[in-house]
Amino acid sequence: MSAPDGPAALLSSERARTVEQVDALTRDFDSVVEACESDAYDDEHDPEGHTIAYERQQVASLLREAKVHLTEIDDALARLDSGTYGTCGVCGGPIAGERLATRPATRTCITCAR
Ligand SMILES: [Zn+2]
Repeated sequence: MSAPDGPAALLSSERARTVEQVDALTRDFDSVVEACESDAYDDEHDPEGHTIAYERQQVASLLREAKVHLTEIDDALARLDSGTYGTCGVCGGPIAGERLATRPATRTCITCAR
C-alpha cells in the first residue's frame, strides 16, 4: 500500500524517536526532582537552588512538549487510518507533500499554520 518512506513509515519512526525522548526526559525529570528533594538541598541558602528549580522547569516543559507531540503523532496515525491524513484541519485543503515530509504529524497546511 504505502511506499517505504510514506507517511505511515515517517510517522512510526517519528513516534519511536518521540517515545525515546519522553523516556529520557522522564528520567531527567526524576533525577532533578530527586536532587530537589535530597536533604542537601536548601533553596533559601543554596546558590544552586535557583539553577535546580530552573532546570526542573525546563525539563518539565520539554517533557510536556514531547508528550503533546506524541499525541499529535497518534492523531495523525488515526487520520491516516480514517483517510483524512494530509487534509488541513482548518481550511480542509490539502497539505503540501514537502510539509508532510518534514512535519509528518502536522494537521494544518502551511497557509493556516501562519
Ligand atoms: Zn489550511
